[in-house]
Amino acid sequence: MREPADPARDDLARDGLELGDDLRSFVDASPSPSHAVAEIVRRLTAAGFGALDETDAWSLAPGDTRYVVRDSSSVIAFRIGTAPPAEAGLRLVGAHTDSPTFKVRPRWDLRRYGYRLVGVEPYGGLLAHTWLDRELTVAGRLVVRGGGQHLAVLPGGPLRLPSLAIHLDRSIRDGLVLDPQRQLVPLWGPDLETGPGLLQALADAAGVVAGDIVGHDLVLADTQPAARTGADGTWIAAPRLDDLGCCHSGTLALLRAAGAAHTQVLVANDHEEVGSGSAQGARGSFLADVLARLVAATGEVNVQALHRTIARSRLVSADMAHAVHPNFADRHDPSHAPAMGGGPVLKHNANQSYATDAVTGGWFTERCADAGVPVQHFVSRADLPCGSTIGPLTASRLGIATVDVGAPMLAMHSCREVASALDVPLMVRALTACLEE
Ligand code: ZN
Repeated sequence: MREPADPARDDLARDGLELGDDLRSFVDASPSPSHAVAEIVRRLTAAGFGALDETDAWSLAPGDTRYVVRDSSSVIAFRIGTAPPAEAGLRLVGAHTDSPTFKVRPRWDLRRYGYRLVGVEPYGGLLAHTWLDRELTVAGRLVVRGGGQHLAVLPGGPLRLPSLAIHLDRSIRDGLVLDPQRQLVPLWGPDLETGPGLLQALADAAGVVAGDIVGHDLVLADTQPAARTGADGTWIAAPRLDDLGCCHSGTLALLRAAGAAHTQVLVANDHEEVGSGSAQGARGSFLADVLARLVAATGEVNVQALHRTIARSRLVSADMAHAVHPNFADRHDPSHAPAMGGGPVLKHNANQSYATDAVTGGWFTERCADAGVPVQHFVSRADLPCGSTIGPLTASRLGIATVDVGAPMLAMHSCREVASALDVPLMVRALTACLEE
């Protein structure tokens, strides 16, 4: 029997496929945190946002749209409200630009048994086996003499981590254990006399002189383009959805939000997957510095203005959430089983791994109701540890009322994750409503 037609769901599916395709292109353009920031900046610039530099003196007026980048991998963008921040406060959306991966070591050029290999070190809580047998590349930034920075990606998918044949280790049937030092060293091809080294190949890709390169922040990235999947094509299979999914939704929300009395802010931090302890991470001073300067640059130089601003503000920490996995449903609390395509997930944790409380959770739920967006709830099983986000760190650092939310997904921290395109418009509508409130 055919389901009765549901125009609202048809609209959502259409919107979802369009925005889901936009998310796929966002992810494909963002193989490293520095690339993700460049892609956010490209979209902001196209919409008229201007660059601010932390080394300059700032002067801001109501309605101004600006962005600030710190150390190439974190960005804060904002639209100044029509009222002073101390009177109207801020509405912020936060996400993170990094994902679990492998970072290229300083002395990367390894040769064994006729192979060239690339020395790497694991970054964040990765699911190592998902990186096996995939076409990988190296992406990130190169720093040249004098401090200039250039983004680089090796063309194609020249690196790989081949599995060991089952014939050579039958114990694998009991479970795969991989030693990152010895067994997760990517192969980069045969050890030929001819052909450029990795440094030269990266220099060629970035259009710089190899001898001028004095530093690099480079990570491994999967090269398979993000794809539509699932019987109706509404799922998105892609690398780095955690948390490029929310970087994308947050960017669209800031671009779509109508200006308001309050100031609207997007913050996308690096280093969440490794604890956020850096100058541009959520434990660092980036957001606090920018907010203090934003308040001062709009004309309020008295010491109370920043504190009054924070006390009137709300932050939505947007990071991907765990949908219930049908093959592992017992890993969820049975009363809390978020579904992909079911809308934003409100995250709760009694021990403050998430910053949501009654006030901020209720506020988010109201904004979603106003926007016609359903809300789901996630709480960890009582006998399982809980992940965390930039939410509690930012709340602790600034004293700002914070709610933790995210789009539901499966295979979080896999090299190839999956989420629903239907959640993209729902997240964008929810975040836009929070910024506009
Ligand atoms: Zn995350």
